[in-house]
Amino acid sequence: PTMAHSKALLVLENFIGGKFVPCSSYIDSYNPSTGDVYCRVPDSGKEEVEAAVKAAKDAFPVWSSKSPSERSQILNKLADLIEHDLEAFAQAESKDQGKTITFARTVDIPRAVHNFRFFASSILHHVTECTEMPAMDCVHYTLRAPVGVAGLISPWNLPLYLLTWKIAPAIACGNTVVAKPSEMTSVTAWMMCKLLEKAGVPPGVVNVVFGTGTKAGEALVCHPDVPLISFTGSTLTAQRITEKSAPHCKRLSLELGGKNPAIIFDDADLSQCIPTTVRSSFANQGEICLCTSRIFVQRGIYSEFLKRFVAEAKKWKTGNPSDPTIDVGALISKEHLEKVRNYVKKAQAEGARVLCGEGVDPLALPPGNQKGYFMLPTVIAEVKDESCCMQEEIFGPVTCVVAFDTEEEVIERANGVKYGLAATVWSANVRRVHRVARRLQSGLVWTNCWLVRDLNLPFGGMKASGIGREGAKDSYEFFTEVKTITIKH
Ligand code: NAD
Repeated sequence: PTMAHSKALLVLENFIGGKFVPCSSYIDSYNPSTGDVYCRVPDSGKEEVEAAVKAAKDAFPVWSSKSPSERSQILNKLADLIEHDLEAFAQAESKDQGKTITFARTVDIPRAVHNFRFFASSILHHVTECTEMPAMDCVHYTLRAPVGVAGLISPWNLPLYLLTWKIAPAIACGNTVVAKPSEMTSVTAWMMCKLLEKAGVPPGVVNVVFGTGTKAGEALVCHPDVPLISFTGSTLTAQRITEKSAPHCKRLSLELGGKNPAIIFDDADLSQCIPTTVRSSFANQGEICLCTSRIFVQRGIYSEFLKRFVAEAKKWKTGNPSDPTIDVGALISKEHLEKVRNYVKKAQAEGARVLCGEGVDPLALPPGNQKGYFMLPTVIAEVKDESCCMQEEIFGPVTCVVAFDTEEEVIERANGVKYGLAATVWSANVRRVHRVARRLQSGLVWTNCWLVRDLNLPFGGMKASGIGREGAKDSYEFFTEVKTITIKH
């Protein structure tokens, strides 16, 4: 960028001990829908992380001794403040991430608000255990206490949504935190920091250090005074975090990638199933860990499904994310767009058929978006189960449709990947949906719907999709240390 250009750029600062502090070096962050530099993000390292951890440690004794109801009031206040600025947050999230303004307005920011309200409420309702041993004249009970400084690392696909899903339970439980959002989508976390003081969050309770994973992220993972790390991101990064944290025996919560199947039986209500499966494949440009990317359709309805599914996918409009009539925005980066396009090329080279989207249909973009990272919703058929398109997480607007014959067969094929995050099952047969749901290797199974969440219940994946669960009880257990106390009377 030219000097005149860079003057207009947004420059973020770290938030440490209740104050914004500049950094000595910065990284450029792009607006994916134009390809222009949108803001400059601190390139933090050990020094900044050290200062943030110290601030969090200093704030811990006072914050952890507040009552749950005092903390709850502060979380509710913060939720109100974010909600008050919902439109500004949504605009920023859309510009920074490439997602449509509609998605940011209706999903990302409302959910961030809800995350704070939800944990503000749930923290008031936990009970601990108590058992009796009359023969020994003993009672036992458990106590739960906050752990200390929590390290929170979040990805770029649902920036504020996923970061607040960690910050809210961590601080509700009485921990203090050092958060590191993705270097590609840091703006809304920075905006949230501006509201903390007004909400009554004491200095040092929430610290945000911006920067890359290898520098700022690893400094946090390796810090001896951060006993727990909650991470959402890719499986590869999780392996690295596991290795780096091993010498400190840290407590880890890992929410990772998916290769989620949709299983569609011949008695499914296609009028519900088709629009929902198009949505589960392409919502947020397919950049949601829960997105469907392998669609198994029972042979008898395969050709009808394919015809109707492709017609429905073609209705999704790709273009300027700030236009409220647009369904598909830009992908996060140039590199990511290339990666996703390469999967389509590989599928074609293997003999699969691309039915719509990439390379098949024209992509018309407004003049201001010519350099953006756009791609049409793409449907691929006749892909082999062993193909990388059916095995690896693509994380873009690409979905594969294949046929199956029997229930037994489809369960085995659906389970035949390294991931196990979410699955959808479509059938009118209640017995069958219970049977199939039980056998799927998947942390979440939605039948005849997608993405309907009760935050009270566990969220997370099995196999390479993660370790641990998040939710009212699960997050409470992760963010607290339990103690068993025995009293003889
Ligand atoms: P990523 O793993 O590249 O990055 C995630 C975060 O980790 C970023 O903040 C990054 O800076 C940081 N990081 C990278 N290397 C690090 C290191 N060595 N040490 C510490 N931190 C490091 O993931 P991404 O590309 O930002 O996000 C996409 C991935 O996240 C996909 O695989 C997706 O499925 C997954 N995801 C999972 C869930 C879930 O709940 N299971 C939700 C959303 C996204």
